[in-house]
Amino acid sequence: MSYDPVSLFRYNVSHKLECSVLCGILHMSSKYNVPHIRHRAIIALQHYFPPTLDGFCVAKAVRTSLRVRDTFHIANVASQTDASALLASVLIFCAQQHLDYILDGVPHPGGAKELTRTNRSAVLHARHQLNHLARSVTLRALYYSEECTRQNCLLVKRTEGAKLLEGRNGLVNPLSKFSCLSDIPVCADCREKLHEGIIIGREEVWQKVPEIFGLAPDWDTLVKKDDADYD
Ligand SMILES: [Zn+2]
Repeated sequence: MSYDPVSLFRYNVSHKLECSVLCGILHMSSKYNVPHIRHRAIIALQHYFPPTLDGFCVAKAVRTSLRVRDTFHIANVASQTDASALLASVLIFCAQQHLDYILDGVPHPGGAKELTRTNRSAVLHARHQLNHLARSVTLRALYYSEECTRQNCLLVKRTEGAKLLEGRNGLVNPLSKFSCLSDIPVCADCREKLHEGIIIGREEVWQKVPEIFGLAPDWDTLVKKDDADYD
């Protein structure tokens, strides 16, 4: 078959293709240096793992079609092909998976599907930081606010704060909307501050994700890097 650049430019990589196929296309187009196909494979995979917080939340519905081992596979291929914006988005998802899966891989008859050593180490390191960011950024109003001194508010915040730290697979996700806290019995001021803090804090944490994984100082740099590879 002859190489036809015109038809290649028209070639569309649909996000409806199976995730393993999309990963295969990303791998091959990177290996054989076909940037426009690579770019489209990245865009297709960003259907599941976009580089913005709003996009990431909306994509929650489409991610239900993925198994955890699929997401590990996407992370490994994104890392090997240096698809950095995709990698940051998928790693933040991997960091929220069950610790046993992260440490030992997802059991499978053909052999456990594991994160590469680099990805596993990045994810474990990130979980530590994410727990800290949940308390100090997203839930700052729950753990550290000293503005309201009502006994009831202090007690409720302390109880709810302690409850959150227990039994969550070792991770309090700072990107969560924490809807479980929306109607706790605190005063209107405390509730408002908590609500606002969560909205602003989630975005603040999202902006730190590239740095958490040691990929770049911010999302813009990552996205520009992927676009530069395309040019
Ligand atoms: Zn209060």
